[in-house]
Amino acid sequence: MIIVPESEIAGLVTTEDAFAAIEACFAAMARGEAYNFPVIREALGEGRQYGFKSGLDRAGGVMGVKSGGYFPGNAGRGIPNHQSTVLLFDPESGRPTALVGGNLLTALRTAAASAISIDRLARTDAKVLGMVGAGHQAQFQLRAAAKVRDFDKVVAWNLHPEMLPKLGEVAAEIGLPFEAVPLERMTEADVIITITSSPKASLLDAHVGPGTHLACMGTDTKGKQEVDPAILARARVFTDEVAQSVTLGEAQHAIANGLIKAEDITPIGAVIEGLAEGRRSADEITLFDGTGVGLQDLAVASAAVRLAGQKGVAAEVEV
Ligand code: NAD
Repeated sequence: MIIVPESEIAGLVTTEDAFAAIEACFAAMARGEAYNFPVIREALGEGRQYGFKSGLDRAGGVMGVKSGGYFPGNAGRGIPNHQSTVLLFDPESGRPTALVGGNLLTALRTAAASAISIDRLARTDAKVLGMVGAGHQAQFQLRAAAKVRDFDKVVAWNLHPEMLPKLGEVAAEIGLPFEAVPLERMTEADVIITITSSPKASLLDAHVGPGTHLACMGTDTKGKQEVDPAILARARVFTDEVAQSVTLGEAQHAIANGLIKAEDITPIGAVIEGLAEGRRSADEITLFDGTGVGLQDLAVASAAVRLAGQKGVAAEVEV
């Protein structure tokens, strides 16, 4: 069994590697060759969450589970509150093949999903990137988005404005002017990424102009909400997995309000595979509901194992 420790991931898996792995994973899901097993998520009390996301990708020869959760006391221990580890198995024999640190990989695979949606659905002439959120994930989202469109500016809003300068530093690092703006000025953005842990909509219908692509990435649990459901009613809605989108993704609210139906939501894998149309016109609003599926974790972990083997940094143990 191969072990790829968390400390090796940053030197192994690039934004481009994650993009390729996640695009192949979404395509395999659309072909029916990969599927996610039911998610287990338990509240442990005192804000702690623990669970398992797992699946099988026959096309990629990948099976496994990401185990982890949210442990708010970790800040005091000097380690991240979000903890995850991926365990991979040989789909033929069931033997464990790899144990991979999953913290950085979670950020990379989430940013890759959002960037794939921008690549496939945003206008090719998109110039202004809007960021709603400035926490841990936001910096990865910004870096990945900048790889797929030639943006010339970032406008950003965060409920806690003191967090914005750190995101501004990331924009500066990649050579993009950065401006903190009120939500009303999100109408200037051609692409908007939402990546917050908000329990109610921040971005309202009036904040979104025609032709915008939205990547809504923060809502991954029942009860979270980032955008006005009226935006989903106005948009063509895409997602990683429809079953998650309607139950725990951003679409849960528009579904509950009867504004859209599950049949209105298109898996992004179908667009990648040429089975469904992407953007149809310069004026339409497209919205990707990125809920985060276990197969994404397995895909990037599998890429990390392959790259660790190539670079000779994988430790091997007998189980
Ligand atoms: P973080 O704790 O580092 O940052 C939280 C962000 O949410 C900050 O920008 C904060 O200002 C903002 N926020 C907090 N409360 C808010 C409120 N009431 N209204 C509006 N904004 C508020 O978290 P993070 O690691 O950056 O994760 C952000 C979100 O993304 C979380 O909800 C997390 O669960 C989710 N997430 C989704 C995926 C996926 O695959 N879709 C993967 C990882 C994380």
